Amino acid sequence: MIDLHTHSTASDGTYTPSQLVEAACRRGLLALALTDHDTVGGQQEALQRGAELGLRVIPGVELAADFEGAEVHVLGYGFDPNSPAIREILHDLSAARDCRNRQMAERITQLGCPIDYDALCIRFSGSVIGRPHFAQVMAEQGFVSDVSGAFDLYLHPGGPAYISRQLYTIPKAAAAIRRAGGLTVLAHPLQYHFDNGTLHRFLQTGRQADICGLEVYYTGYTAEQRDFLRRLAHTYGFLQTGGSDFHGSGKPGIQLGDGFVPDALLEDLDRALEQCRAQEIQKGV
Ligand code: AMP
Ligand code: ZN
Ligand code: FE
Ligand code: FE
Repeated sequence: MIDLHTHSTASDGTYTPSQLVEAACRRGLLALALTDHDTVGGQQEALQRGAELGLRVIPGVELAADFEGAEVHVLGYGFDPNSPAIREILHDLSAARDCRNRQMAERITQLGCPIDYDALCIRFSGSVIGRPHFAQVMAEQGFVSDVSGAFDLYLHPGGPAYISRQLYTIPKAAAAIRRAGGLTVLAHPLQYHFDNGTLHRFLQTGRQADICGLEVYYTGYTAEQRDFLRRLAHTYGFLQTGGSDFHGSGKPGIQLGDGFVPDALLEDLDRALEQCRAQEIQKGV
């Protein structure tokens, strides 16, 4: 088994990077990519624990981007987490997130659930703070029954406490990952509930932005859906990738290694990663 899509406490997962690597070893995974939202803060710890335990850890990230007004996700793999291109985009995304979070704390307070954003930042320091953290506090205060109640009633797009944040476009997010020597993938293409025409424009936009892969394998996708996505990947010339989107208890019901990701994808990914690096080196010369 391999898993190329997971989250740690550096974003909104509940396992620390070390705990995630340890759990991956217990599950018998061959390779694990940590793809936290908008941060590379967990990479060093995950890589170190992987080296100690003999598990292959691939550096990754999951960047939010705008497509026709919807938030979509672009995965990056195998880049240098310290490269200026990555640092710049993560800094911009974090500033936009902080601005949105402050407004969201005010809005939730107005709705009757007092939230002190500075206290929230201290409590979750080291994590990229997002809607799941607000949901947790709302549940703890008894304002909603649980995290998913907070999303259903208040935090979903269009909900009374939802505030959008400024996002990069797909080409800009992809370019930052590529400049850092990484490979880019369009994440979970069926999670956006696009109609057929929009899905094709999404894939076309990805191709035009030189995105390399498509996440064909993902928790909950049926055999028919995986078939459908394999065919799309073939038509558009995308590398196939996949992962569980494990978040620990943040998304109950998902186990590390879920999604039916074939082990053979790892070789294709490695080949593609080498090509990406070679292309960047050539451009740099
Ligand atoms: P944000 O990046 O702050 O907009 O928050 C997005 C995060 O919220 C993602 O990591 C999702 O996993 C999580 N999320 C979105 N919808 C739900 C939901 N209905 N229940 C639980 N978590 C959710
Ligand atoms: Zn998440
Ligand atoms: Fe995602
Ligand atoms: Fe994810």
